[in-house]
Amino acid sequence: MKEVGYMILAIILIILFIPAMIVGTAKRGQVKVDSGEGIDISGSVIVGDENKEEKSKEEESKEKDNKDKLNIGKDEEPCIKVFIHSENKTVYMPLEEYIRGVLCGEMPAEFEVEALKAQAVAARTYAVTRMKEFGSKGCQRGEDADICTDSTHCQAWISKEKRMESWGALNGQKYWDKVTKAINDTKGQILTFDSVPVMYPLYFSTSSGKTENSEDIFKSNEPYLKSVVSPYEKEAPKFASKVTFTTNDFIKKFADSQYKIKLDKSNIKSQVKVLSRTEGGSVKSIKVGSSTLSGTSVRSILKLNSANFTIEFGKNDVTLSVSGYGHGVGMSQWGANGMAKQGKNYKEILKHYYKGTDIKTIKDVYGSKAK
Ligand SMILES: [Zn+2]
Repeated sequence: MKEVGYMILAIILIILFIPAMIVGTAKRGQVKVDSGEGIDISGSVIVGDENKEEKSKEEESKEKDNKDKLNIGKDEEPCIKVFIHSENKTVYMPLEEYIRGVLCGEMPAEFEVEALKAQAVAARTYAVTRMKEFGSKGCQRGEDADICTDSTHCQAWISKEKRMESWGALNGQKYWDKVTKAINDTKGQILTFDSVPVMYPLYFSTSSGKTENSEDIFKSNEPYLKSVVSPYEKEAPKFASKVTFTTNDFIKKFADSQYKIKLDKSNIKSQVKVLSRTEGGSVKSIKVGSSTLSGTSVRSILKLNSANFTIEFGKNDVTLSVSGYGHGVGMSQWGANGMAKQGKNYKEILKHYYKGTDIKTIKDVYGSKAK
């Protein structure tokens, strides 16, 4: 049963990961391997790319620079098989190189460097706990892959080329160096709970001022995913939002949903009632017509920023006031940035959002299995 719970958790969290990922400005769906960068650093090879062009001298020297900057190849380190879903090929690359691409896709580089470091450790933990080298099953999307770049399945990842393009000439190098620093300063570090790597280092964009217990949102009870206060993110653009539907549209949304709920326009207020809320403040269960739904289901039906909402019924319309953005479980990215602005370091940020965890290195945890 626990395994089924994990599977359900995995599916739901993948769906709900999307908004957290949108906080980054990465243009997803266009992710592509940077042929001058992702290849052959520390002996990485592309699997399934027969037509690799020879690199120019300029590209080679650029690679050397990057290699030095990321401390790759100075000592042996694990490599990860990344399935680039948009190109249908698997690339074998140093783990830290991969994490840099995830960081570029997951968090705005404008954020404080301590927040970026916290995000790097969370992303690295997610990656390591999917790697076959460390006893996991990998990702089934690509043949023999550990992980894929489809944000709806594993983690978002963006190449240097694409990221620099969207950052623009003015800020590109500055942001690239900042992200690289966040990777170097946390190199090899992952989150553990009871000395075991954390399997679900979840994160999301913006909380309502409090995060959620995992069991309230995903059914799976993880000791390190517990509701905590998140006080420093009121400046986040999606901290509060409002959505108004005409009463007809509101009724239609539920009629068209998989639940096919019938609502009567004449007395709609009496047919929709919040029954319970989570510790973090989200709607846990809500009566809609003759059905009882989760807040997460209503969020999905009405495409709300989160499941933390209140409802007001007007004469001919329905307004939902929504707090936060994302599933609310684990680390709030805007909250992490707020904590960093308050002078907290990445370890303090991680230990705040992931209760009872420690930060260890891959070598500490996997010993001789880690190269
Ligand atoms: Zn995947």
